[in-house]
Amino acid sequence: MDNARIADRLDAFAALLELAEANPYTTRAYRRAAELIRGTAVPVAELVRSGRARELRGIGPGIEARLRELLETGKIAELDELERELSPELIGLGRYLGLTTKRSIEIARSLDARTPDEFRAAVAAGRLRSVPGIGAKREAQIVEALERPGEPRPPRGLLLNRAWELVGGVAAAVGGEVAGDVRRWRDSCEHLAVVTTADDALARFAELPQIVAVIESGVGVTIEGVPIELVAAPRESFGTALLRATGSEAYVAALEPLPDAPDEEAVYRALGIPWCPPELLEAPFRGEPPPLVELGDIRGDLHCHTTWSDGRASVEEMGRAARDRGYEYVAICDHTPAVGAVRGLTPDDVRRQGEEIAAANEVLAPFRVLRGIECDILPDGSLDLPDAVLAELDWVQASVHGGQRMPAAEMTRRVIEALRNPYVRCLSHPKGRIINTRPENALDLDRVYEVALEERVALEVNGLPPRLDLRGEHVRDAIRAGVQIVCSTDTHSIRGYENMELSVRTARRGWATAADVRNTRPLNSLLEP
Ligand SMILES: [Zn+2]
Ligand SMILES: [Zn+2]
Repeated sequence: MDNARIADRLDAFAALLELAEANPYTTRAYRRAAELIRGTAVPVAELVRSGRARELRGIGPGIEARLRELLETGKIAELDELERELSPELIGLGRYLGLTTKRSIEIARSLDARTPDEFRAAVAAGRLRSVPGIGAKREAQIVEALERPGEPRPPRGLLLNRAWELVGGVAAAVGGEVAGDVRRWRDSCEHLAVVTTADDALARFAELPQIVAVIESGVGVTIEGVPIELVAAPRESFGTALLRATGSEAYVAALEPLPDAPDEEAVYRALGIPWCPPELLEAPFRGEPPPLVELGDIRGDLHCHTTWSDGRASVEEMGRAARDRGYEYVAICDHTPAVGAVRGLTPDDVRRQGEEIAAANEVLAPFRVLRGIECDILPDGSLDLPDAVLAELDWVQASVHGGQRMPAAEMTRRVIEALRNPYVRCLSHPKGRIINTRPENALDLDRVYEVALEERVALEVNGLPPRLDLRGEHVRDAIRAGVQIVCSTDTHSIRGYENMELSVRTARRGWATAADVRNTRPLNSLLEP
C-alpha cells in the first residue's frame, strides 16, 4: 500500500470521526498524520512493518496501531463500522441539500433509508411529509434541490486555496484537468469541475475518498456537500470541453458554436482569435489579451509579519526564506498598537526592530530586508505612529482594522486622510472584506484611486485566501485610473509566502501587466515615486 493510499484512508477516517462528533483533537491528529504521510518520501508501509512509524513526527501509539491494522488486514475495522453507521453518502447528500449531519441522520432513520437512492425513492414517494419537523415548504425545497438539473452549487463559495486543493486532488486522481471557477482563479469558487478523457474516469471518480456520493451522472458531492462536476470528453474534443467547463456562461455563449478540437489553443485557432488566459474568461472578449503579470515577475514581498507582532518567524528567518525564493527584497511590516488583538510595535519597538533588520541585512546581503510597518489608520484618518517614526522606514503600509462599519463618506474621508500622509506607500487590503464572513467596507474606491494617483500610493492585492483584496474587478478599475498595485501575501509564516500566486492570479483577473505591479521593479527603482 503506497503512502497516498494510506493517507487517503486516514483522511476518510478523520472525516467520519468528525461526523461522529469525536474529539476534535483526535480528528485533527489523523488529518495531520495523513498530510505528513502524503508528503513523506520514504514508504510508510515499511516503517510501520519495521516498527519505526513513530519516528515520523505526529505519529503516536494510537495512529501507529491503526496503521498496523490497515497494513495487516487491508482495512480499519472501526472505519468500516463508522461507514456503515453514518453512511457518508447520505450525509454528503444531506449537506448538499442544506441539512446538518444530525438532521440527515434523523431523517434517514425515520425514512428507513440507508443509501442516497433509497432516500430519493422515499422523497419521490412523498414520504418526507411523514418525517417529524418537515413541513410542506421544506419538502418542496428538498424535492427541488434533488431535481435541480445541470450544475448544483454549494451553499457558499469555497475559498480559492481550498478549492484548488480539492479539485486539484480530484483532477490528479482521475487523470483530468482542473476547470470551472478554480481554473479562472475566482476568489470564491462555486462551479467546481474536472475535465478528462480517461475511459474509467467516472468509475475512479465515484471511488475517490473525497467524493462521498455521485448524485447524478458526473456530479459528485464531497463530505462537506460541495458538488464537483466530472466532464468526460472524447480526446478529439477535449480542448472544447475544457474551454466550455472553464469560461463563464457569458464568455462561452459569446464564442459558441465552439469547434471541436483536442486542445484549447486549437479551439481558439479554429475560431480565428488569440488564445486567452483562463483568468480573463469572464465577460465576453475576442481580442488580443495584454501580457499579464506572472509569478516570476515578482521581485519581493512587501507585506510580511514576524514574531515582533503576530508572525511565527523572526526577521532573519523571513528574510532568508524570501531570499531562498529568489526574491531581491522583502518588507517587514508588523502591526502597530491600535490593531488591538495582537501585539503592535511602539516607536521604541520600531527602532529596536530596525537594529535587528540591519543585522539581518549584513548576513543576507545583497538581498535586502526593508524596514516597513503595517500602520493602523485610526478612525479620524490619522496614523498610529508619529510621522518622525514613519520617516525612518522604507515601506509604510496603511491599514484599516478596527471600526470598519463606518458609513461611506466617513470611511472614505478616513482612508484619504491616511493616503495624504507623505510616508504612506501602500494601502493594505483596501476593502477590508473577509470572504464569507465580513462584507466589504463602504469605501468610495473611485475617490481612493484619484487620491492614490496624486499621492503616488499603491493599492495592495492582499494574497491571504479569505481576503484577495483588491479583487479582480477593482484591480482593473485601479489600473484604468492609472494607479499602481502591489502583490503581497500579508504572510505570518514562511509557508505563507506561497500565497503570492493567489495575489498574482487575482491581479491577472484585473488585467494587470508587470508594469502595473510595483514589486516587479528591482530594488533600486522600487522606492522611487
Ligand atoms: Zn492587516
Ligand atoms: Zn498584515
